[in-house]
Amino acid sequence: MSARILIVDDDTALLEALPDAIALRMNGITIDTCETAPGALDKIRQTDYDVIVTDIKLPGMDGLELLDEIKLLRPGTPTVLITGHGERDLAVRALRGGAYDFVQKPIDRDYFVASLERAIQVRGLDRHVDQQRVELERHARVLQHVDRGVFLVDDEGVIRHWNPAAQSITGLATDELVGRRADEALPGWDAIGPEVPVAHVPGPGSTEAKTLPLDIEGRELWISISGVQFEDGIVYAFRNLTEERALDELKGEFVATVSHELRTPLAAIYGAAQTLRRADVQLGDENRERLLEVIAAESERLSRIAGEILLASNLDSGRFSVETQQLDVEELVTDVVDEMRALTASRQDIVIDLVANNGLSPATCDGDKLRQVLINLLDNAVKYSPDGGRIEVRVEPHDNCVRFVITDEGLGIPHGEQQRIFGKFYRLDPRLTRGVGGTGLGLYICRELVRRMEGRLSVTSSEGRGSSFVVDLPAAVREPSRTQPVTESAGQT
Ligand code: ADP
Repeated sequence: MSARILIVDDDTALLEALPDAIALRMNGITIDTCETAPGALDKIRQTDYDVIVTDIKLPGMDGLELLDEIKLLRPGTPTVLITGHGERDLAVRALRGGAYDFVQKPIDRDYFVASLERAIQVRGLDRHVDQQRVELERHARVLQHVDRGVFLVDDEGVIRHWNPAAQSITGLATDELVGRRADEALPGWDAIGPEVPVAHVPGPGSTEAKTLPLDIEGRELWISISGVQFEDGIVYAFRNLTEERALDELKGEFVATVSHELRTPLAAIYGAAQTLRRADVQLGDENRERLLEVIAAESERLSRIAGEILLASNLDSGRFSVETQQLDVEELVTDVVDEMRALTASRQDIVIDLVANNGLSPATCDGDKLRQVLINLLDNAVKYSPDGGRIEVRVEPHDNCVRFVITDEGLGIPHGEQQRIFGKFYRLDPRLTRGVGGTGLGLYICRELVRRMEGRLSVTSSEGRGSSFVVDLPAAVREPSRTQPVTESAGQT
């Protein structure tokens, strides 16, 4: 047994004799001595003793007061009090005050040593429990901070631990789950629980995680999950794969969409070129011209698709910069509207109106990028108005911004999809059931471009009734008072 004890007594004879007596009976004991309470407290502050032995009556501060101080400084250290003859009441008070034991003078050495041994043992156990508690707390803290969901299901199938990551991934709160059966508390667990691969030893390569769906309040949550068996149950660890899975699906759809988008103009170009090459067909000038127009228009469409893909990739990789300047946007918007009117001249059912305030402040923006955004939004307004209608382009001051609003009377966007349409590759109708093509990159590019100009792109829409896309760009100068809006309207002729 190796232990360190402190003996406090003003009786110097006892202080000299007692250590030797103890040393004779106990191996591995280091003994410090002290004659006064303040001196003892100094030592106790510096050293974490296994046992403290103190006379119950000390000059200046009695043993009971010293005991109180020891309880404050070292609450876990057992204290044995030495009492004089007839001090039984004091001794009882000391025991009530938290002393471990007391020995009466004249000291019965065997009893004293036995008491010390028990105290040292108790202290050793205490320390061990303390260490384990610290370890456990550390493990618990680790579990609190890992970015994987971790939960423990015991042999009875009851959830015993549910860490914060598990809570934030699933939205299921710890206090609602812990103590309940997993197959009752975790939606879909009865089906997926048996599917989860469980290893018998932890560590890499012990088992492959499996991707499985949890159905939480109608929302499908895809998790990659595996478990490790231990004597009292299974610890499961999982991470959220929903977004990765959604992106994979979108990428799959994107490949299908882009292949279709490329094949259509290519087929038109190929067809027109083949017809032009035929020697056996007499093409008049007019037909030849028409075929050449098809080739030119479809080539442009191809180049636009390639441009969108390249731009999206540049935006992602950071190889992209905007150069903002103070720009008078009226002229730019008028140009864009004229261009779109020309491009959609064949759509007799579409009317594009421009409503612009006179005397708008300049916007802080990159003109080329703004043009690109507006053309894209107008192109969508036309594309997603299969039954025609009025499209309005409105430019107006708004707070410290110049606001552009493009409103159509087309298909509209269901409420639940209004944020998702800005996602990369996202299309409401990827299978082209409405016959309208696109890469699903346009709005993603628009939002990124607007963001990089320190602006904001948003949408309000009502399904079947139309949509309004709003671009806010910072105004270069604070707005002075407004003049009446000037409305310019033009149909397609
Ligand atoms: P694309 O038009 O190439 O499919 P976008 O990123 O421009 O890609 O648009 C994403 C989706 O948002 C479109 O597929 C369409 O479903 C929807 N959308 C965009 N603009 C409109 C609009 N003005 N009206 C209705 N739906 C729209």
